Amino acid sequence: HNHIDHATPEKVHAAIAANDTHAHLPEYETLAAYRAEGGYAKLSELREGGNFEAVQAELLDAGLRGLGGAGFPSGKKWGFVRAAPGPRYLAVNGDEGEPGTFKDRYYLERVPHLFLEGMLIAAWAVEADTCFIYMRDEYPAVLGILATEIAALEAAGIVQPGYIELRRGAGAYICGEESAMIESIEGKRGMPRHRPPFVAQVGIFDRPTLVNNVETLHWVTRILREGGAILSAIEKNGRKGLRSYSVSGRVANPGVHLLPAGSTITDIIEASGGMLDGHTFKAYQPGGPSSGLLPASMDDIPLDFDTLQPHGTFIGSAAVVVLSDQDSARAAALNMLRFFEDESCGQCTPCRVGCEKAVKLMQADRWDQPLLEELCAAMGDASICGLGQAAPNPIRSAIKYFPDEV
Ligand code: SF4
Repeated sequence: HNHIDHATPEKVHAAIAANDTHAHLPEYETLAAYRAEGGYAKLSELREGGNFEAVQAELLDAGLRGLGGAGFPSGKKWGFVRAAPGPRYLAVNGDEGEPGTFKDRYYLERVPHLFLEGMLIAAWAVEADTCFIYMRDEYPAVLGILATEIAALEAAGIVQPGYIELRRGAGAYICGEESAMIESIEGKRGMPRHRPPFVAQVGIFDRPTLVNNVETLHWVTRILREGGAILSAIEKNGRKGLRSYSVSGRVANPGVHLLPAGSTITDIIEASGGMLDGHTFKAYQPGGPSSGLLPASMDDIPLDFDTLQPHGTFIGSAAVVVLSDQDSARAAALNMLRFFEDESCGQCTPCRVGCEKAVKLMQADRWDQPLLEELCAAMGDASICGLGQAAPNPIRSAIKYFPDEV
Protein backbone atom coordinates (compact mmCIF):
# COMPACT_ATOMS: atom_id res chain seq x y z
CA HIS A 1 0.00 0.00 0.00
CA ASN A 2 2.97 2.29 0.00
CA HIS A 3 5.37 3.22 -2.69
CA ILE A 4 7.94 5.71 -1.55
CA ASP A 5 9.69 6.92 -4.60
CA HIS A 6 10.90 10.31 -5.63
CA ALA A 7 9.91 10.20 -9.28
CA THR A 8 12.66 11.84 -11.34
CA PRO A 9 12.08 12.29 -15.10
CA GLU A 10 14.74 9.64 -15.80
CA LYS A 11 13.08 7.07 -13.55
CA VAL A 12 9.63 7.73 -14.90
CA HIS A 13 10.72 7.58 -18.53
CA ALA A 14 12.65 4.37 -17.89
CA ALA A 15 9.60 2.84 -16.21
CA ILE A 16 7.43 3.84 -19.14
CA ALA A 17 9.87 2.37 -21.66
CA ALA A 18 10.21 -0.84 -19.66
CA ASN A 19 6.68 -1.89 -18.96
CA ASP A 20 3.90 0.18 -20.34
CA THR A 21 2.97 0.01 -23.97
CA HIS A 22 0.34 2.75 -23.94
CA ALA A 23 2.32 5.29 -21.96
CA HIS A 24 3.58 7.49 -24.76
CA LEU A 25 3.24 11.10 -23.73
CA PRO A 26 0.29 12.80 -25.45
CA GLU A 27 0.54 16.27 -26.96
CA TYR A 28 0.20 18.70 -24.09
CA GLU A 29 0.88 22.32 -23.31
CA THR A 30 4.52 22.62 -22.25
CA LEU A 31 5.98 25.24 -19.92
CA ALA A 32 7.22 27.35 -22.85
CA ALA A 33 3.81 27.36 -24.55
CA TYR A 34 2.03 28.09 -21.28
CA ARG A 35 4.31 30.99 -20.42
CA ALA A 36 3.90 32.42 -23.93
CA GLU A 37 0.19 32.79 -23.12
CA GLY A 38 0.86 34.62 -19.85
CA GLY A 39 1.23 31.55 -17.66
CA TYR A 40 2.88 32.04 -14.25
CA ALA A 41 2.42 35.83 -14.42
CA LYS A 42 -0.31 35.54 -11.77
CA LEU A 43 1.98 33.50 -9.51
CA SER A 44 4.79 36.07 -9.86
CA GLU A 45 2.38 38.90 -9.15
CA LEU A 46 1.12 37.20 -5.98
CA ARG A 47 4.59 36.28 -4.79
CA GLU A 48 5.69 39.88 -5.24
CA GLY A 49 2.99 41.38 -3.05
CA GLY A 50 -0.32 39.59 -3.40
CA ASN A 51 -2.97 39.90 -0.74
CA PHE A 52 -4.19 36.60 0.68
CA GLU A 53 -7.60 37.92 1.76
CA ALA A 54 -8.27 39.27 -1.74
CA VAL A 55 -7.40 35.92 -3.34
CA GLN A 56 -9.48 34.07 -0.77
CA ALA A 57 -12.45 36.35 -1.47
CA GLU A 58 -12.14 35.72 -5.22
CA LEU A 59 -12.26 31.97 -4.72
CA LEU A 60 -15.22 32.21 -2.36
CA ASP A 61 -17.12 34.56 -4.69
CA ALA A 62 -16.49 32.22 -7.60
CA GLY A 63 -18.02 29.42 -5.51
CA LEU A 64 -15.02 27.10 -5.89
CA ARG A 65 -15.46 23.90 -3.87
CA GLY A 66 -13.28 20.83 -3.38
CA LEU A 67 -13.62 18.79 -6.57
CA GLY A 68 -12.14 15.60 -5.16
CA GLY A 69 -15.67 14.97 -3.97
CA ALA A 70 -16.11 16.58 -0.57
CA GLY A 71 -17.21 19.96 -1.94
CA PHE A 72 -15.76 22.02 0.90
CA PRO A 73 -15.31 25.72 -0.04
CA SER A 74 -11.66 26.02 -1.11
CA GLY A 75 -11.10 29.57 0.15
CA LYS A 76 -12.25 28.59 3.64
CA LYS A 77 -9.93 25.58 3.76
CA TRP A 78 -6.97 27.72 2.70
CA GLY A 79 -7.84 30.13 5.53
CA PHE A 80 -7.87 27.36 8.16
CA VAL A 81 -4.46 26.07 7.10
CA ARG A 82 -2.92 29.53 6.84
CA ALA A 83 -4.16 30.35 10.36
CA ALA A 84 -2.44 27.25 11.82
CA PRO A 85 1.14 27.67 13.09
CA GLY A 86 3.95 26.83 10.60
CA PRO A 87 5.75 25.01 9.16
CA ARG A 88 2.95 23.89 6.85
CA TYR A 89 2.73 21.49 3.93
CA LEU A 90 0.65 21.18 0.81
CA ALA A 91 -0.44 17.81 -0.52
CA VAL A 92 -2.17 17.31 -3.84
CA ASN A 93 -4.52 14.38 -3.98
CA GLY A 94 -4.02 12.98 -7.47
CA ASP A 95 -4.96 9.42 -6.57
CA GLU A 96 -8.23 9.58 -8.56
CA GLY A 97 -9.18 6.03 -7.60
CA GLU A 98 -12.97 6.36 -7.53
CA PRO A 99 -14.12 3.95 -10.26
CA GLY A 100 -15.48 5.91 -13.20
CA THR A 101 -13.54 9.10 -12.39
CA PHE A 102 -10.97 10.30 -14.91
CA LYS A 103 -11.33 14.08 -15.02
CA ASP A 104 -7.99 14.86 -13.30
CA ARG A 105 -6.18 12.73 -15.83
CA TYR A 106 -8.04 14.49 -18.66
CA TYR A 107 -6.79 17.91 -17.55
CA LEU A 108 -3.28 16.76 -16.62
CA GLU A 109 -2.71 15.15 -20.02
CA ARG A 110 -3.67 18.38 -21.78
CA VAL A 111 -2.96 21.46 -19.67
CA PRO A 112 -0.76 20.40 -16.74
CA HIS A 113 0.47 23.92 -15.99
CA LEU A 114 -2.99 25.24 -15.12
CA PHE A 115 -2.84 22.71 -12.28
CA LEU A 116 0.84 23.33 -11.41
CA GLU A 117 0.40 27.10 -11.27
CA GLY A 118 -2.72 26.63 -9.10
CA MET A 119 -0.74 24.39 -6.79
CA LEU A 120 2.03 26.98 -6.45
CA ILE A 121 -0.55 29.70 -5.80
CA ALA A 122 -2.05 27.52 -3.04
CA ALA A 123 1.45 26.96 -1.67
CA TRP A 124 1.98 30.72 -1.67
CA ALA A 125 -1.37 31.20 0.09
CA VAL A 126 -0.62 28.85 2.98
CA GLU A 127 3.16 29.48 2.91
CA ALA A 128 3.85 25.79 2.40
CA ASP A 129 7.37 24.48 3.01
CA THR A 130 7.02 21.65 0.49
CA CYS A 131 4.42 20.51 -2.04
CA PHE A 132 3.76 16.77 -2.29
CA ILE A 133 1.92 15.52 -5.36
CA TYR A 134 0.48 12.07 -4.65
CA MET A 135 -0.13 10.72 -8.12
CA ARG A 136 -1.87 7.60 -9.22
CA ASP A 137 0.73 5.16 -10.58
CA GLU A 138 -1.78 3.83 -13.11
CA TYR A 139 -1.36 7.13 -14.97
CA PRO A 140 2.15 6.64 -16.41
CA ALA A 141 1.72 9.37 -19.04
CA VAL A 142 0.70 11.86 -16.34
CA LEU A 143 3.70 10.88 -14.25
CA GLY A 144 5.95 11.40 -17.26
CA ILE A 145 4.44 14.81 -17.98
CA LEU A 146 4.65 15.97 -14.37
CA ALA A 147 8.22 14.76 -13.86
CA THR A 148 9.28 16.55 -17.06
CA GLU A 149 7.42 19.78 -16.31
CA ILE A 150 8.50 19.95 -12.66
CA ALA A 151 12.11 19.69 -13.87
CA ALA A 152 11.34 22.50 -16.35
CA LEU A 153 9.93 24.66 -13.55
CA GLU A 154 13.11 24.09 -11.55
CA ALA A 155 15.30 24.91 -14.56
CA ALA A 156 13.33 28.11 -15.15
CA GLY A 157 13.84 29.16 -11.55
CA ILE A 158 10.10 29.19 -10.82
CA VAL A 159 10.61 26.72 -7.95
CA GLN A 160 13.66 25.63 -5.99
CA PRO A 161 14.87 22.09 -6.76
CA GLY A 162 13.06 19.67 -4.46
CA TYR A 163 10.27 22.07 -3.55
CA ILE A 164 7.76 19.86 -5.40
CA GLU A 165 7.93 16.16 -4.52
CA LEU A 166 6.20 13.82 -6.94
CA ARG A 167 5.09 10.67 -5.14
CA ARG A 168 3.71 7.57 -6.81
CA GLY A 169 0.75 5.79 -5.29
CA ALA A 170 0.63 2.00 -5.49
CA GLY A 171 -2.93 1.25 -6.48
CA ALA A 172 -4.69 1.29 -3.10
CA TYR A 173 -8.11 2.96 -3.39
CA ILE A 174 -8.00 3.91 0.28
CA CYS A 175 -4.93 6.08 -0.30
CA GLY A 176 -7.26 8.55 -2.00
CA GLU A 177 -8.79 9.18 1.43
CA GLU A 178 -6.84 12.23 2.56
CA SER A 179 -5.60 11.00 5.92
CA ALA A 180 -4.59 7.60 4.46
CA MET A 181 -2.78 9.48 1.70
CA ILE A 182 -0.88 11.43 4.35
CA GLU A 183 0.09 8.20 6.13
CA SER A 184 1.34 6.88 2.79
CA ILE A 185 3.34 10.07 2.10
CA GLU A 186 4.93 9.62 5.53
CA GLY A 187 6.06 6.15 4.50
CA LYS A 188 3.51 4.19 6.49
CA ARG A 189 0.79 1.79 5.44
CA GLY A 190 -2.08 3.85 4.05
CA MET A 191 -4.81 3.66 6.67
CA PRO A 192 -7.26 6.47 7.47
CA ARG A 193 -6.84 8.37 10.71
CA HIS A 194 -9.52 9.19 13.23
CA ARG A 195 -10.74 12.78 13.13
CA PRO A 196 -10.48 15.20 14.86
CA PRO A 197 -7.79 16.40 14.63
CA PHE A 198 -8.29 17.40 11.01
CA VAL A 199 -5.40 17.38 8.55
CA ALA A 200 -5.59 21.18 8.27
CA GLN A 201 -4.23 21.17 11.85
CA VAL A 202 -2.37 17.86 12.09
CA GLY A 203 -1.34 16.54 8.68
CA ILE A 204 1.95 15.39 7.15
CA PHE A 205 4.47 14.73 9.94
CA ASP A 206 1.89 16.28 12.31
CA ARG A 207 2.17 19.67 10.61
CA PRO A 208 -0.82 21.67 9.30
CA THR A 209 -1.46 20.46 5.74
CA LEU A 210 -3.54 21.79 2.90
CA VAL A 211 -4.94 18.91 0.83
CA ASN A 212 -6.42 19.90 -2.52
CA ASN A 213 -7.56 17.87 -5.49
CA VAL A 214 -5.94 18.31 -8.94
CA GLU A 215 -9.01 19.77 -10.64
CA THR A 216 -9.64 22.22 -7.79
CA LEU A 217 -6.18 23.71 -8.36
CA HIS A 218 -6.75 23.83 -12.13
CA TRP A 219 -9.77 26.08 -11.44
CA VAL A 220 -7.82 28.23 -8.96
CA THR A 221 -5.58 29.37 -11.82
CA ARG A 222 -8.46 29.89 -14.19
CA ILE A 223 -10.48 31.92 -11.66
CA LEU A 224 -7.54 34.16 -10.78
CA ARG A 225 -6.54 34.66 -14.42
CA GLU A 226 -9.96 34.93 -16.05
CA GLY A 227 -12.18 36.10 -13.17
CA GLY A 228 -14.57 34.20 -10.93
CA ALA A 229 -17.47 34.87 -13.30
CA ILE A 230 -16.28 31.93 -15.43
CA LEU A 231 -18.00 29.88 -12.73
CA SER A 232 -20.35 32.14 -10.84
CA ALA A 233 -22.08 33.55 -13.94
CA ILE A 234 -23.21 30.10 -15.07
CA GLU A 235 -26.60 29.19 -13.66
CA LYS A 236 -28.87 26.27 -14.32
CA ASN A 237 -31.70 24.76 -12.31
CA GLY A 238 -30.87 27.03 -9.38
CA ARG A 239 -27.23 25.89 -9.26
CA LYS A 240 -24.14 27.93 -10.11
CA GLY A 241 -20.87 26.92 -11.72
CA LEU A 242 -19.53 24.08 -13.83
CA ARG A 243 -18.84 20.39 -13.21
CA SER A 244 -16.47 18.09 -15.03
CA TYR A 245 -18.59 14.95 -15.30
CA SER A 246 -16.63 11.76 -16.05
CA VAL A 247 -19.21 9.85 -18.07
CA SER A 248 -19.01 6.16 -18.91
CA GLY A 249 -21.32 3.24 -19.48
CA ARG A 250 -23.96 2.80 -22.19
CA VAL A 251 -23.62 6.19 -23.89
CA ALA A 252 -22.45 6.93 -27.41
CA ASN A 253 -19.62 9.32 -26.44
CA PRO A 254 -18.19 8.58 -23.01
CA GLY A 255 -15.59 11.01 -21.68
CA VAL A 256 -15.19 14.15 -19.61
CA HIS A 257 -18.03 16.58 -20.25
CA LEU A 258 -17.77 20.07 -18.75
CA LEU A 259 -21.37 21.16 -18.12
CA PRO A 260 -23.30 23.53 -15.85
CA ALA A 261 -23.38 22.26 -12.27
CA GLY A 262 -27.17 22.11 -12.42
CA SER A 263 -27.18 19.47 -15.17
CA THR A 264 -29.47 16.49 -14.81
CA ILE A 265 -28.73 12.96 -16.01
CA THR A 266 -30.89 13.76 -19.08
CA ASP A 267 -28.55 16.65 -19.96
CA ILE A 268 -25.48 14.50 -19.32
CA ILE A 269 -26.69 11.66 -21.54
CA GLU A 270 -27.54 14.19 -24.25
CA ALA A 271 -24.05 15.74 -23.99
CA SER A 272 -22.65 12.21 -24.28
CA GLY A 273 -24.30 11.68 -27.66
CA GLY A 274 -27.33 9.86 -26.26
CA MET A 275 -27.64 6.19 -25.36
CA LEU A 276 -25.81 3.54 -27.36
CA ASP A 277 -27.90 2.07 -30.16
CA GLY A 278 -30.19 -0.64 -28.88
CA HIS A 279 -29.92 0.42 -25.23
CA THR A 280 -32.67 1.96 -23.11
CA PHE A 281 -31.71 4.07 -20.11
CA LYS A 282 -32.41 2.19 -16.88
CA ALA A 283 -30.25 3.50 -14.01
CA TYR A 284 -27.21 5.59 -13.19
CA GLN A 285 -24.46 5.91 -10.67
CA PRO A 286 -24.31 9.65 -9.94
CA GLY A 287 -20.90 9.87 -8.26
CA GLY A 288 -18.83 6.73 -7.98
CA PRO A 289 -19.85 3.40 -6.43
CA SER A 290 -20.08 5.02 -2.98
CA SER A 291 -23.10 6.92 -4.31
CA GLY A 292 -25.04 3.75 -5.23
CA LEU A 293 -27.57 3.74 -8.05
CA LEU A 294 -30.54 5.90 -8.99
CA PRO A 295 -33.34 4.77 -11.32
CA ALA A 296 -33.99 6.37 -14.72
CA SER A 297 -37.25 7.80 -13.35
CA MET A 298 -35.19 10.19 -11.18
CA ASP A 299 -33.93 12.07 -14.20
CA ASP A 300 -34.70 15.65 -13.19
CA ILE A 301 -32.33 16.15 -10.24
CA PRO A 302 -29.48 18.62 -10.78
CA LEU A 303 -26.32 16.58 -10.16
CA ASP A 304 -24.37 18.91 -7.91
CA PHE A 305 -23.06 19.10 -4.36
CA ASP A 306 -25.95 19.09 -1.83
CA THR A 307 -28.74 18.31 -4.31
CA LEU A 308 -28.60 14.54 -3.81
CA GLN A 309 -28.58 14.68 -0.02
CA PRO A 310 -32.38 14.40 0.27
CA HIS A 311 -32.10 11.16 -1.72
CA GLY A 312 -29.49 9.73 0.65
CA THR A 313 -26.59 10.04 -1.77
CA PHE A 314 -24.08 12.55 -3.17
CA ILE A 315 -22.32 13.67 -6.33
CA GLY A 316 -18.77 13.04 -5.04
CA SER A 317 -16.25 13.36 -7.84
CA ALA A 318 -19.04 13.35 -10.48
CA ALA A 319 -18.28 9.89 -11.87
CA VAL A 320 -21.46 9.16 -13.78
CA VAL A 321 -22.00 5.61 -15.03
CA VAL A 322 -25.05 5.01 -17.21
CA LEU A 323 -26.73 1.58 -17.11
CA SER A 324 -29.21 0.26 -19.66
CA ASP A 325 -31.98 -2.34 -19.84
CA GLN A 326 -29.21 -4.84 -20.65
CA ASP A 327 -27.58 -4.33 -17.22
CA SER A 328 -28.59 -5.75 -13.88
CA ALA A 329 -28.82 -3.30 -10.98
CA ARG A 330 -28.35 -6.20 -8.61
CA ALA A 331 -25.14 -7.30 -10.36
CA ALA A 332 -23.88 -3.72 -10.40
CA ALA A 333 -24.49 -3.35 -6.65
CA LEU A 334 -22.73 -6.65 -5.96
CA ASN A 335 -19.79 -5.55 -8.11
CA MET A 336 -19.52 -2.33 -6.09
CA LEU A 337 -19.49 -4.24 -2.78
CA ARG A 338 -16.86 -6.62 -4.12
CA PHE A 339 -14.76 -3.59 -4.89
CA PHE A 340 -15.17 -2.25 -1.35
CA GLU A 341 -14.37 -5.68 0.09
CA ASP A 342 -11.12 -5.71 -1.90
CA GLU A 343 -10.22 -2.14 -1.04
CA SER A 344 -11.15 -2.01 2.64
CA CYS A 345 -7.95 -1.26 4.54
CA GLY A 346 -9.06 -3.71 7.22
CA GLN A 347 -8.48 -1.35 10.11
CA CYS A 348 -12.02 -1.44 11.54
CA THR A 349 -14.36 -4.38 11.95
CA PRO A 350 -17.65 -2.93 10.63
CA CYS A 351 -16.04 -2.28 7.25
CA ARG A 352 -13.61 -5.20 7.02
CA VAL A 353 -16.12 -7.84 8.10
CA GLY A 354 -19.20 -5.93 6.94
CA CYS A 355 -18.14 -5.72 3.29
CA GLU A 356 -17.26 -9.41 3.21
CA LYS A 357 -20.54 -10.38 4.87
CA ALA A 358 -22.52 -8.14 2.53
CA VAL A 359 -20.97 -9.76 -0.56
CA LYS A 360 -21.98 -13.20 0.76
CA LEU A 361 -25.54 -12.09 1.52
CA MET A 362 -25.87 -10.42 -1.89
CA GLN A 363 -25.05 -13.68 -3.66
CA ALA A 364 -28.19 -15.38 -2.32
CA ASP A 365 -31.07 -15.92 -4.76
CA ARG A 366 -33.20 -13.58 -2.71
CA TRP A 367 -31.56 -11.02 -0.46
CA ASP A 368 -32.26 -11.25 3.28
CA GLN A 369 -33.28 -7.59 3.40
CA PRO A 370 -33.77 -7.13 7.17
CA LEU A 371 -30.36 -8.64 7.83
CA LEU A 372 -28.70 -6.57 5.10
CA GLU A 373 -30.32 -3.42 6.46
CA GLU A 374 -29.05 -4.20 9.96
CA LEU A 375 -25.58 -4.74 8.55
CA CYS A 376 -25.76 -1.48 6.58
CA ALA A 377 -26.70 0.42 9.75
CA ALA A 378 -23.72 -1.00 11.66
CA MET A 379 -21.33 -0.22 8.80
CA GLY A 380 -22.65 3.30 8.30
CA ASP A 381 -22.64 4.13 12.01
CA ALA A 382 -19.42 2.55 13.15
CA SER A 383 -16.87 2.63 10.33
CA ILE A 384 -13.90 4.95 10.73
CA CYS A 385 -13.85 6.47 7.25
CA GLY A 386 -15.99 7.18 4.22
CA LEU A 387 -15.31 3.83 2.58
CA GLY A 388 -17.12 1.81 5.22
CA GLN A 389 -19.67 4.53 5.87
CA ALA A 390 -20.74 4.78 2.22
CA ALA A 391 -20.33 1.11 1.25
CA PRO A 392 -23.98 0.40 2.19
CA ASN A 393 -25.25 2.88 -0.44
CA PRO A 394 -25.32 0.42 -3.37
CA ILE A 395 -27.17 -2.12 -1.18
CA ARG A 396 -29.73 0.37 0.06
CA SER A 397 -30.35 1.83 -3.38
CA ALA A 398 -30.80 -1.61 -4.97
CA ILE A 399 -33.36 -2.53 -2.28
CA LYS A 400 -35.17 0.79 -2.61
CA TYR A 401 -35.23 1.28 -6.37
CA PHE A 402 -34.89 -2.22 -7.82
CA PRO A 403 -36.82 -4.46 -5.40
CA ASP A 404 -37.81 -6.90 -8.15
CA GLU A 405 -34.18 -7.79 -8.81
CA VAL A 406 -33.17 -8.50 -5.23
FE1 SF4 B 1 -10.30 1.03 6.70
FE2 SF4 B 1 -12.84 0.51 5.98
FE3 SF4 B 1 -12.31 1.31 8.42
FE4 SF4 B 1 -12.03 3.01 6.38
S1 SF4 B 1 -13.94 2.14 7.10
S2 SF4 B 1 -10.65 2.75 8.10
S3 SF4 B 1 -11.30 1.58 4.79
S4 SF4 B 1 -11.59 -0.62 7.46
